[in-house]
Parts: sequence; structure tokens; C-alpha cells
Amino acid sequence: MSYTHNTITKLRKSSPAQTEFYQAVEEVLDSLVTVLDEDSRFCQHSIIERMVEPERQIMFRVAWVDDEGKIQVNKGYRIEFNSALGPYKGGLRFHPSVTTSIVKFLGFEQVLKNALTGLPLGGAKGGADFNPKGRSDGEIMRFCQAFMNELYRHIGPRTDVPAGDIGVGTRELGYMFGQYKKLTNQFNGVLTGKDILWGGSLGRKEATGYGCVYFAKHMLEGIDDTLEGKECLVSGSGNVAIHTIEKLIDLGARPITCSDSDGTIYQKKGIDIKCLKQIKEIENGRLSDYAKHNPDAEYISRENYPDDGNAVWRFSGQVAFPCATQNELNAADARALLDNGCIAVCEGANMPCTSEAADLFLKAEIAYAPGKAANAGGVATSQLEMAQNASMQRWTFKQVDDELRDIMLDIYQRTRDTAAELDQPNNLILGANVAGFRRVADAMIQQGVV
Ligand code: NAP
Repeated sequence: MSYTHNTITKLRKSSPAQTEFYQAVEEVLDSLVTVLDEDSRFCQHSIIERMVEPERQIMFRVAWVDDEGKIQVNKGYRIEFNSALGPYKGGLRFHPSVTTSIVKFLGFEQVLKNALTGLPLGGAKGGADFNPKGRSDGEIMRFCQAFMNELYRHIGPRTDVPAGDIGVGTRELGYMFGQYKKLTNQFNGVLTGKDILWGGSLGRKEATGYGCVYFAKHMLEGIDDTLEGKECLVSGSGNVAIHTIEKLIDLGARPITCSDSDGTIYQKKGIDIKCLKQIKEIENGRLSDYAKHNPDAEYISRENYPDDGNAVWRFSGQVAFPCATQNELNAADARALLDNGCIAVCEGANMPCTSEAADLFLKAEIAYAPGKAANAGGVATSQLEMAQNASMQRWTFKQVDDELRDIMLDIYQRTRDTAAELDQPNNLILGANVAGFRRVADAMIQQGVV
């Protein structure tokens, strides 16, 4: 049995029923076969077995009191996956779908993504199966405080620096930071994505979406094409989707869709970013409200989605940006995109394409950027926030955005060059996985068996 196959078989036994985690691991191990064959050090040092096992997994009870005075209980997680390259770094997700499998897949991907940035960052992920939808501000605050009552003992500016993710934005980070400060009597850069008022970085909020579009721009230029004038399909309407749409408009492309968990908006003339931001960032509303303000926009509610997939991918567009959640684009969606003339897919979300969909894109030889590379601008800019916090400095938006542009170019080139070196120049999944893996593996070997 091969080294990678053996590792996956053992993993399935030791960590049962973690489907999303196996999906993420299998994709990476598939990419590593040649590299592992060529360099026996990785096998000698059991690098793969060590990389798929988190350094530390923290699971805890989060008990809090709702507005009716009832005690609610949620499951909290922080999975500190790998610290070979630096302090653990990765977001916190509050969503009812959060399980060990989800947090582990995200943490595992985060390790390679952070390595790919070239910055001194380890990888972690965390969160809770808490559903913030429909909760009052007071309930959100009490939940965040209860969550931090346990998390604070495991994190620190040189140990583990969480950020936001689905369901965790500036408001939630504010409540968590307040509680951390209360418990530790320390004002430091223990979280990133903070508000500008109290230690946040200009440009962090925009970084994942903007970075994803910078990556797409380089990828298209790599095939002698441009984003300008392209009709783009974007899913999601949260932090990543909004800033992807904003930057696409800025660069002369035309984003024509967005979505939330209730439905999809299609607007041929292009998404009205001002209205979208008003509804999602200020009113905390739903996309059904967007349609009321934009009579020319079509709203497809979830009940009317095709049986075999997601409505957002059934429109015609040349570039697709999945920016909502994992496995939101399946094989039927991929076929529809290809039939409709899609020439590029750039992942803003983490693992938004199923393995079958990814295989179809590779087979069709369209330009395809995995999230690990394309959405790394967020974590890279978090590192810039950490640097500003540590030096008590404040950079301008332009300084941060210029750095982000350089980092995204660097990630693109590293990914492209590694894929080319392995004789598969079009396979950026391979390039991203191998380039990230090599950095982590070499650091692990140098640091001994720990
Ligand atoms: P967010 O602000 O909470 O937005 C998430 C968006 O996705 C919302 O529009 C949400 O709709 C939609 N969504 C979530 N779960 C869904 C589901 N099961 N089905 C359909 N739609 C769903 O989160 P975000 O920060 O933009 O994150 C989006 C993705 O980017 C995630 O995969 C995240 O891991 C990844 N990412 C984020 C960052 C970052 O800096 N924030 C960095 C790298 C990667 P509802 O509002 O209806 O739930």
C-alpha cells in the first residue's frame, strides 16, 4: 500500500465520520504523490502522519443565557493544527453546521494556505455550532463572552491568534476581545480583524475579497486574458463576496450574481454594490430585500433551485467566484458553468468546489484557483495587523493594499511556478499544495520530533 493511501486509511479509522476533513486531506495527499516519491525524507520523518494529526484539539462547553433567561449550551472548538512556521493563525466560525470535521478541514487547509503566503504563520481554526441568526445583540455578546471564558487560556499574541470567519465579524471580535481583556488584563494583538478604533488594520476587512480578485487578475493575465469586461458569477453576500464584487467593479468587470442561504440574485446590468452593502452590512437583511430595491434584479429563492445543485452557477458568466461556503459547487454546477462558457474559477471560500467539480475544471483545462491560494489575502493581511499591533504603528490603507497586492502576486507566482516545475502548468491545486507542503515539511524536519 502506498504511503499516502496508508495514511488516509489510518486516518479514517482514528478519526471516524469526518467527511469534510477526509476530502481536504485526500486532495492534498493526491497532489503530493510525486514529491513524496522523490524525497524520502518526508516518509522517514513521518511528515504526512504528523501533518494530518492536529498538534492540539480543544473542545469545550459554551453555556450562556438567552433573552428569555433560558440557559443555552453550544459546543466550542479551537483546533491548533500546526505551529512549524509560526504562531497558530486562523479564523473562528459561528454556524450551526460547525462540527469537528468542519473545523479540522479548515484548520488543515489553513496550515498550507498560511505557508503559501511566505509569512511566519502556523495554522489553526475554531468556532462553535452557535447560530447567530435571529439572536439579539445582547445574546450575541453573552455568547461571545462565554466562548472567550474558555478560549482565553489557549491563545496569545505569540501563541495563537484567531480571526473571524462565517458568522464572526467585527462585532463578535469586539465582544470577544473585551472579554479577553477583562480576563487577562492585557491589551494586545491576540485577535485580528479588530475594529480600526481599537487595534484593527485598515484594509483587513476588504483583504480576502480584494486579494481573491488580484489573484484572478494574475491568473487571467497568465492566459493572455483580462478581467475587464467579463461577466462574473459570485456566490455569497458576506465579507468575502461583498469585497470580491467591489474589487471586480473597480477593475472593470461586471459581477452579475450574489447569494445568501435563502436565495440568489441575478442582475444582468451588474450588482448594485451600494445597495448590497446597505442591506448586508448595515441592515443585516436578506437578499429578498435587495430585489425590492432593484426591480430589474431576479431573485431565485432556495425552494426554486435546481434539484441537482445551486442556482447561482446556472447563469451564463465567464468567471466564477464561489465565496460562500464549502461544497457549494458540485459536479452538475461545474458542468453547467463549462457549458455556459466559463473560462475561470477563483475560490474565495474554503473548499467551495466538491472533488468531482474540481476534477471537471482540471479536465476542461480552464483557469482554476484553489481557495488555499486565492483567498490567502485575508490571513496575510491579518499578519500585517499583527505587525502593526506589535510595533504600535498604524499603516495607511494604501500601504496595506500595496502589500496585499505584492503578496497575492507572490502567491500566484509561487503556485504557478511549482505547478510548472511538476510538469502540470495548468494545475494550480497541485502548485498550491506542493508549495505550501514543502515549507511546512522542511520546518518540521528542522524542528525535530515534537
Ligand atoms: P460571512 O461574512 O459570514 O458570509 C458568508 C456568506 O455565505 C453569507 O452570504 C451566507 O449567507 C453564505 N452562506 C453561509 N453558509 C451557507 C450555506 N450553507 N449555504 C448557502 N450560503 C451560505 O463569511 P465570510 O467571511 O464571507 O466567509 C465566506 C467563505 O470565505 C468561508 O468559506 C470562509 O471560510 C472563507 N474565508 C473567509 C475569510 C475572511 O477573511 N473572512 C478568509 C479566507 C476564507 P447567510 O447570511 O444567509 O448565512
